[in-house]
Amino acid sequence: MALIVQKYGGTSVGDVERIKVVAQRIKNTVDAGNSVVVVVSARSGVTNQLIERAKALNAIPNEKEMDMLLAVGEQETIALTAMALHSLGVPAVSRTGAQAGIVTDFNHTRARIVEVTGGDIKKQLDAGNVVIVAGFQGIDPDGYVTTLGRGGSDLSAMALAGALKADVCQIFTDVDGIYTADPRIVKKARKIDVMEYDELLEMAASGSKVMQARSVEFARKYNVVFEVRSSFNNNSGTIVKAEVPSSLEGLVVSGVAVDKNQTKVTITGLPDKPGSVAEIFDALGKNGVGVDMIVQNIGRQGMANLTFTVAKDDAPKAEKILQGVCSDLGASVSLTGDIAKVSVVGIGMRSNSGVAATFFTALAKAGINVQLITTSEIKICVAINLDRADEAACALHTAFGLDK
Ligand code: ADP
Ligand code: ASP
Ligand code: MG
Repeated sequence: MALIVQKYGGTSVGDVERIKVVAQRIKNTVDAGNSVVVVVSARSGVTNQLIERAKALNAIPNEKEMDMLLAVGEQETIALTAMALHSLGVPAVSRTGAQAGIVTDFNHTRARIVEVTGGDIKKQLDAGNVVIVAGFQGIDPDGYVTTLGRGGSDLSAMALAGALKADVCQIFTDVDGIYTADPRIVKKARKIDVMEYDELLEMAASGSKVMQARSVEFARKYNVVFEVRSSFNNNSGTIVKAEVPSSLEGLVVSGVAVDKNQTKVTITGLPDKPGSVAEIFDALGKNGVGVDMIVQNIGRQGMANLTFTVAKDDAPKAEKILQGVCSDLGASVSLTGDIAKVSVVGIGMRSNSGVAATFFTALAKAGINVQLITTSEIKICVAINLDRADEAACALHTAFGLDK
């Protein structure tokens, strides 16, 4: 008898009809002789609605209260999924993140998992129950509800699969697997059958929201092999694991990623002396605001200009913090949300020259202006105007020979 962890994302449990379909798939898995732990997200749109309500009351909501609120979305779906299973005659119990022993640190709204005890999951499985666990949520050591960052149900699934030593971890979503680019943006994107953690991690970190980046990081660390597949059909999906021997041979680039949830921050008139930049990033870091794509230009009269990006969700908080720091430093700050990050990712880039030339030539031919650039061994990333993002992704996909 195998132990299978299945995670169903927001669209997969989007309404009562979808929950019935999911319950039937779970029943089929049980009928095939498996023990099943299910992780569910909130119905699609629910988490966003809850965030909007909070922001209508307070632009920078208290993070503990935010977690208390956001955990509601997943709590609805665990109960409904259990009820749907009962209707099919399948014994099932629901558990919150806290009840499943998903213990996190104190970083509310972006907590990290520190321990997974599993609560009574093993006992319930032994008693013949399917256990339905609320994704995206945990509990801090003081007993307060935490959430794991957007897309965090993926992480809940990986953490439970790792802790319970599951034989299989299946991530059910609304696409057939991981593609060479978001198939909603790049129509010629191809499904990848098998890929390595590192490649997916770099794609996820570059904004491909198909998997939460931290969940892939976790899977890599604990060697959780998983499959991403659709809950809308029975097609085989994408297997993700440590090493793929002949990984996409001949292809230098394995995928293109687009991130439209970015805000560009520009600080002008920063004193060009040791410590100014540190002061900026120290203030942001202490408040849990991550930054990316940092560029500094030395301007006139001992003043520097600093540009970087932050996640759109963090922008109001970043603005408030920076206004404080900048007024102390005599600098000024401005934010703009009309940018997107577009990246190409591939392990093959390590051993290939000419990747940058192909990349920038493709953008130049499309007449797309580049604002910021960052590179790593296996990635090139640019910030461009938001309204050119889809076009850039398609141009790069073609230029690197990824079109089907
Ligand atoms: P879930 O609610 O199941 O977690 P998400 O909406 O978080 O699903 O992720 C699935 C979506 O990710 C797809 O609908 C697709 O538009 C998007 N996506 C972005 N990049 C990719 C990619 N490279 N491959 C597949 N899907 C992608
Ligand atoms: N409901 C959460 C979100 O929308 C977590 C998830 O779906 O994975 O981010
Ligand atoms: Mg998701």
